[in-house]
Amino acid sequence: MFEDLKQAALDANLALKDSGLVILTWGNASAIDRKRGVVAIKPSGVAYDKLDLDSIVVVDMEGNVIEGALRPSSDTQTHLSIYRRFPEVGGVVHTHSTYAVAWAQAGKAIPNIGTTHSDTFHADVPCTREMTAEEIAGGYELYTGDLLAECFGGINPMHTPGALVRHHGPFTWGRTAAEAVENAVILEEVAHMAYLTFAINPGATMNPLIIDKHYYRKHGKNASYGQIPTPGEE
Ligand SMILES: [Zn+2]
Repeated sequence: MFEDLKQAALDANLALKDSGLVILTWGNASAIDRKRGVVAIKPSGVAYDKLDLDSIVVVDMEGNVIEGALRPSSDTQTHLSIYRRFPEVGGVVHTHSTYAVAWAQAGKAIPNIGTTHSDTFHADVPCTREMTAEEIAGGYELYTGDLLAECFGGINPMHTPGALVRHHGPFTWGRTAAEAVENAVILEEVAHMAYLTFAINPGATMNPLIIDKHYYRKHGKNASYGQIPTPGEE
């Protein structure tokens, strides 16, 4: 069962490894089947070159294993929390990519000060608040997801498909697991560029009109980026 879903999760995890964003086992990708209420995710602590379809774990929305012999990723509750809070999300990715982690450890959102950022992330990429002692002690992974969702009070999570978990690292998402991987790659580049920009000019800013121009050039009904699809194509 769940072969297509497991394949989507496997492909995303392998793409994540190929992207160069993860070393060792520091990352995970998942995909959701909302009709059946299940999520396929990387097993905990398994090397990427050992991953195959059988090792992908399928869990229900509470995190109970439905299929698979291995334990799911230790970040499973965070993935589930993102799926619950953001109903349009089809895939979630977590990495410890260097520059995104640097911003997360500094406790700083990544400001949108360039068109590379604006093309994919409409708002600043938010960073979660400090966790309370109670939150750390009780349901740490679950609260991680809750705090992440808390950052999106006024932000559309499908227009800014990523966030930084303070002291930890980035989570990204998309309509599919493949899109979540792509957004993880873009987030790392954006984090790197922002770091360099503020090293050169700590006061760098950008006119918000440019943000909208670039975001809506690639997204929404008036998007003009790329080629006009031929009939039958998306
Ligand atoms: Zn992590």
